[in-house]
Amino acid sequence: MVQTLKKYTGEGLVFTTVPFVAGDGFGCNLIHVKGSTAPKKGPVLLVHGAGVSASIFLAPVKKNIVDYLLEEGYDVWLENWRSSIDLPPNQWTLDQAALYDHPFAVKKVVEETGQPRIKAIIHCQGSTSFMMSVVMGLVPQVYNIISNAVSLHPVVPDFSRFKLGYLVPVVKMMTPYLNPQWGVQPRGFAAIMINTLVRLTHHECSNGVCKQVSFTYGSGFPALWRHENLNEETHEWISHEFAHVPMSFYRQIALSVKEGHLRSAGDNDFFPASLLEHQPQTDARITFFAGEKNLCFLPLSQQKSFEYFDRIRPNYHGLQLVPGYSHLDIFIGRNAFRDVFPLMAQALSLN
Ligand SMILES: [Zn+2]
Repeated sequence: MVQTLKKYTGEGLVFTTVPFVAGDGFGCNLIHVKGSTAPKKGPVLLVHGAGVSASIFLAPVKKNIVDYLLEEGYDVWLENWRSSIDLPPNQWTLDQAALYDHPFAVKKVVEETGQPRIKAIIHCQGSTSFMMSVVMGLVPQVYNIISNAVSLHPVVPDFSRFKLGYLVPVVKMMTPYLNPQWGVQPRGFAAIMINTLVRLTHHECSNGVCKQVSFTYGSGFPALWRHENLNEETHEWISHEFAHVPMSFYRQIALSVKEGHLRSAGDNDFFPASLLEHQPQTDARITFFAGEKNLCFLPLSQQKSFEYFDRIRPNYHGLQLVPGYSHLDIFIGRNAFRDVFPLMAQALSLN
């Protein structure tokens, strides 16, 4: 019996941790969520972004995405892949996640549920890496996908481009990880320096982690949400939801942003250098979501990926730009249950 961490909570919900071993032996897990009634629809797998964990989908709002999906009748599974802050810190790449984590997570859900086909909701670097699995035909069981923020074409604001191009090589020499927890406890030279820089430049709120997150993930004050979209409790809750992000990831995303599309980290010989070199090996219907106000990855990122897939199979995939939303408030916003989740449910119901 694997104990489920205390942070996985929700009124009337039961959380079970289901471990799985990734293709290279790395230990990951799935969090299975049960509501008050048995699911009447199939499984949906939720994949978090970088430097957080599966609990990011459990924001303290009236109705979060997990509550919403359970109400819709889905069987809900959350994946903690190797970037999860619940797992030991490691120098992960998108390639490793795509090759070793997601295919084994999908296989485990299929095994556990007995359902041969599943749906997925994938966010940010959970989305880029999962889309690498999709393109290479590693997750053929997944037939309907909601991707948020970025997938094959990362496009960032000019200031982020500058940071990725010039700051990442410098920061890399000082520290193997960036960590938004430095906003609370700066330990070591790099942490103190970056914390000082953030304190001098970010005055948008008094939450040290919120400000560090903005520094860590891009441009904007804040970068990943609009303050007006969060309730107070969620703004406080994020303080515990963000931690270490390795420089190995920044190296890969910097290269991808420079090239305008996702690039292999080059740490294996499975992936082509550019993911666009490979005809996508998938029949999945993909709906590309983006907050129109996203300052981490610009909405153009998803527009480009939608157009790419639409050219390959016209009038099959979808693009949903959500006004008034940024990056992560798409999931953790206090009114996302009203403004966003119905759009996702609609897209999930298409096949
Ligand atoms: Zn804030």
